[in-house]
Amino acid sequence: MAETTGFCRDCMTPATAGERRCLQCGSPRLVRHAELEALPIAHIDCDAFYASVEKRDNPDLRDRPVIVGGGRRGVVSTCCYIARINGVRSAMPMFKALKACPEAVVVKPEMEKYARVGREVRDMMRALTPLVEPLSIDEAFLDLTGTERLHKDTPARVLARFATAVEREIGITVSVGLSYCKFLAKVASDFEKPRGFSVIGRAEALTFLRDQPVTLIWGVGKAFAATLESDGIRTIGQLQQMDENTLMRRYGMMGKRLFRLSRGEDERAVHIDHEAKSVSAETTFNHDYGTAAELLPILRTLSEKVANRLKASDTAGRTVVLKLKDTEFRIRTRNRQLPDRTQLADRIFRVAAPMLDHELDGTKYRLLGVGVSDLASDAMADPMDLVDTGATRRAKAEEAMDAVRAKFGTKALETGYTFGTGSRGKPQRDQEN
Ligand SMILES: [Mg+2]
Repeated sequence: MAETTGFCRDCMTPATAGERRCLQCGSPRLVRHAELEALPIAHIDCDAFYASVEKRDNPDLRDRPVIVGGGRRGVVSTCCYIARINGVRSAMPMFKALKACPEAVVVKPEMEKYARVGREVRDMMRALTPLVEPLSIDEAFLDLTGTERLHKDTPARVLARFATAVEREIGITVSVGLSYCKFLAKVASDFEKPRGFSVIGRAEALTFLRDQPVTLIWGVGKAFAATLESDGIRTIGQLQQMDENTLMRRYGMMGKRLFRLSRGEDERAVHIDHEAKSVSAETTFNHDYGTAAELLPILRTLSEKVANRLKASDTAGRTVVLKLKDTEFRIRTRNRQLPDRTQLADRIFRVAAPMLDHELDGTKYRLLGVGVSDLASDAMADPMDLVDTGATRRAKAEEAMDAVRAKFGTKALETGYTFGTGSRGKPQRDQEN
């Protein structure tokens, strides 16, 4: 029986033999795998997301190295692939990045815009399957089990068409990892960025994992990797040689995870309710601040950022969280619960401001953050306030301002609190890959 084991990602023509280019369109972007048509779990990750959005919106940037980030103490949020070739990396201090790539164009992040584009991509994902589990603004797991009837095609082909559609309709690129479980789908999506499409099947899982470093396993960070290293364990293959009891005795629950994942066993389902549990924005200052006059405008800007993200995802939160870091790097967090969920900048700010005021005891701070947690749909958020009619009036004003911003861009309007504060209120620690 002749089996179709591959296709061209550009024209979708089956690619069965060992040809290097598509016999139909000549494209080299062929994907082949023995299990290709049977695998249902995908991890989709936008390529250099913030930088790609900026390049889309400004064609002058297209062939230039672009870094999204900023501020004197700031770090690189995202850099494009041209900048990466020059040695720039995410989370790298900006001065170091500019040393590596002096000709780079630095663009300040516009989180509201990225949230909006991320939401467009997610909406397109949800047209493929209701089982979409976002991990961050620009990546998600998808479970396409049982969707062949709906799409009259296999998950692999549906996903390849999806990647092309995102390029055409949104103007950015994505990479796809396809496997039988979340762990390996996520590993696969990282293989051939950008515009990648990688597959890890059941038959090859054990041998593939054998030579990989333990850090590939979910939850094994630098610290835990050092613990494993001190026990002489560097590769996943070494974990494959150990039995479950030994691993659990040594590492507790993490040992159980090591045992299973090292063998490519990952039963975790794709959850739809895994949306972010909180939304926050924070900024590290170029100077240390300790007065209301300095900090309130920044708090206002951050509150607007949080509100924009909530609005972009149709969510609202009940708990407002304030975060401060002093010059000794000690962190203070304060929170307050609201009677109803909110997604309004004005409300977040008015709850956070007194909490901030309470912490102004002469201490100088280097970081200020504000967030909203306990999130849910915005359906019941921000009811009209019968006691404080001013609140309802301000909510209406914010709605009107949102409408103006949507039409003319985010810089069209500034409130009295942020006017003239320059870059101080801009977040510098937003990172993504
Ligand atoms: Mg990404």
